[in-house]
Amino acid sequence: MKLAIPAWEIPTLAIKGSAERFPVRRVFCMGLNYLDHKREMGITGDVPPFVFTKAVNHVVPCEAGETASMRYPSKTTNYQWECEYTVAVGKGGSNIAAKDAYDHIFGYAVGLDMTRRDLQLWAKNEGLPWEIGKDVEQSGPVGPITPAATMGHPTTGALWLKCNGDTRQKSDINQLILPVPGIIAWLSEYYTLEPGDIILTGTPAGIGPTKPGDIIEAGVGELTPIKLRVTE
Ligand code: MN
Repeated sequence: MKLAIPAWEIPTLAIKGSAERFPVRRVFCMGLNYLDHKREMGITGDVPPFVFTKAVNHVVPCEAGETASMRYPSKTTNYQWECEYTVAVGKGGSNIAAKDAYDHIFGYAVGLDMTRRDLQLWAKNEGLPWEIGKDVEQSGPVGPITPAATMGHPTTGALWLKCNGDTRQKSDINQLILPVPGIIAWLSEYYTLEPGDIILTGTPAGIGPTKPGDIIEAGVGELTPIKLRVTE
């Protein structure tokens, strides 16, 4: 097969303790999955589970011990961090029962769901789709995956994010409204999950704006933390 234009590389994530890398197929992001974040977004009452996606080429692979770069995007003056516990799917399936969900998980990582908040809220207020706020170039930094085969499936663990050394998000993944097995079960009703899919499980309170020059650090439990510099 001769391609008319050069093919692009798919992003791959480091795997802790392995020379192999994890190719990313799709990026799913769960919304409003922590009570305190719902409150800070001014949302009261029950919200059913929902998901949005980012194009896979927006993933910024972060390597252990390194400072990655993340470009501040165009057309926003309010580009915000959201630190999220991130699930890497190793085995596909649809209509997966929650009790079987862990069989489908390769491992876990720290991810960010960077958001042009001004454009997201504009779209929301207009009743329009959110893509312009969420599906943003370089908006999906993800760190190395720790395989479930070596770590198991954490259900507790401190989630934190620092901007320029100041702690801005501090929660625990035990606060997820819909925990990971429920996310796999719910999402696999709507999509046939595939190996390589990653799922960002939602962010707790403490979202806030970045600016070029900021250093963002984030972690979840024992997972490899990530570090990024926001660039012009
Ligand atoms: Mn999010």
